[in-house]
Amino acid sequence: MNLDTFPIAAIATAPGRGGIGVVRASGKNLRPLAQALFNVELKARHATYIPFTQADGTLIDQGIAIYFKGPHSYTGEDVLELQGHGGPVVLQMLLQRVLEAGHDVGLRLAEPGEFTRRAYMNDKLDLAQAEAVADLIDASTEAAAKSASQSLSGAFSQAIHALVERVTHLRMLVEATLDFPEEEIDFLEKSDARGQLRGIVAALDQVFRQASQGALLREGLNVVLVGQPNVGKSSLLNALAGADVAIVTPIAGTTRDKVSETIQIEGIPLNIIDTAGIRSHDEAVDIVERIGIERTWGEIGKADVILHMLDANHGPTRADESILSGFPAGVPVLRIWNKIDLSGHKPSIDASDDATHIYLSAHDHTGIDLLRKELLRIAGWQQTGESLYLARERHLIALKSAARHLDRAEEHAAQTDQSLDLFAEELRLAQVQLSTITGAFSSDDLLGVIFSRFCIGK
Ligand code: GDP
Ligand code: ZN
Repeated sequence: MNLDTFPIAAIATAPGRGGIGVVRASGKNLRPLAQALFNVELKARHATYIPFTQADGTLIDQGIAIYFKGPHSYTGEDVLELQGHGGPVVLQMLLQRVLEAGHDVGLRLAEPGEFTRRAYMNDKLDLAQAEAVADLIDASTEAAAKSASQSLSGAFSQAIHALVERVTHLRMLVEATLDFPEEEIDFLEKSDARGQLRGIVAALDQVFRQASQGALLREGLNVVLVGQPNVGKSSLLNALAGADVAIVTPIAGTTRDKVSETIQIEGIPLNIIDTAGIRSHDEAVDIVERIGIERTWGEIGKADVILHMLDANHGPTRADESILSGFPAGVPVLRIWNKIDLSGHKPSIDASDDATHIYLSAHDHTGIDLLRKELLRIAGWQQTGESLYLARERHLIALKSAARHLDRAEEHAAQTDQSLDLFAEELRLAQVQLSTITGAFSSDDLLGVIFSRFCIGK
């Protein structure tokens, strides 16, 4: 990761064709660049319609130029945005032109996430907010997008700050007492330190719930769908997706087969791997197909739940048994007995030792609710109505670790020969953990990992 402070530029819009596309530059002083590029005086934060030309005056495109004077910009530096037509070639030409014009001031191509990294460096965003930028862009459901923008707005960061402040306050009390050992004995009583600590633990618990539920919206549930042709797999997906079917996003898995798609239940993305297209390794014809099959089995290895679909009018076939034997052990299996409208079974769910059996009709939509509820239960979803933060794994780990330190502080406080030193130290460690979330304490390594996962231009 490049950590110099030279100006940077990149195409900021998604690759491909679009109505408009944006080339963005950021740097400490971009006014001369804007001047050199198009020989116009740009008024800060005003849209100016100008011809984008090569150095020799030939036309590349016509579009809108907007100049943001730092610190009033996304990155906190001067930012120049050129909005042209959204074609890959024309944007590439425009980018080349910008890089050329900025050559003398050291302008270079931005690295992945570098605009957002600069925003972080210049205190426009804290770390949790910077991560929320990527999560908002990558959100696969409306609920996920809502939670990401909740985090981006700073609500999650504020909740963390509030916790840090309460811990800091308690630490100050304790540390003031450490200087007067004779008062140590009844300090915890007098200041109600244990009551305060209990309050912080409860508040942390609440934030953890909001964050871990939000993390579900981000990660979703990996579902593998197994079943013979015509057993009703497609019908089941449609029934499950229900009214949300319009937001179903097909993902082309390989060049040949659509192996994965995403539907959602209550905003939780279900990443469904349809095994209809998979075959055993020996059957694979050519190398492309082989790679596709390997990838599908790799995805299956990440399954949170396996849906094994059967026809309630017949038992499992031999093919069913053989394919199931290849699945990872320890992953919950739901046996879906479909077409009960024909077989006469009642919609029901019952757990036996090897699997949970659900009787339903994908055609009549009877019993679908039982399946939805069971999937939400497996995901760990609780509908609490509180606002959620689209947290990441590292946030959850930090919250858990902070909670552990607070628990230890509580233990120290509960002992008859209380050690205020140890009590204070656990508070300090809890505070450090919480602060890693917003980035007050964070290593360059962590920053590198976070920002390198962005695309170029973000
Ligand atoms: P897939 O090949 O496993 O994806 O199966 P489809 O979803 O394409 O369904 C195969 C056939 O079974 C279609 O004609 C569906 O209309 C029918 N089907 C699916 N589910 C049901 C059901 O619950 N009851 C009845 N009667 N027919 C169903
Ligand atoms: Zn199908």
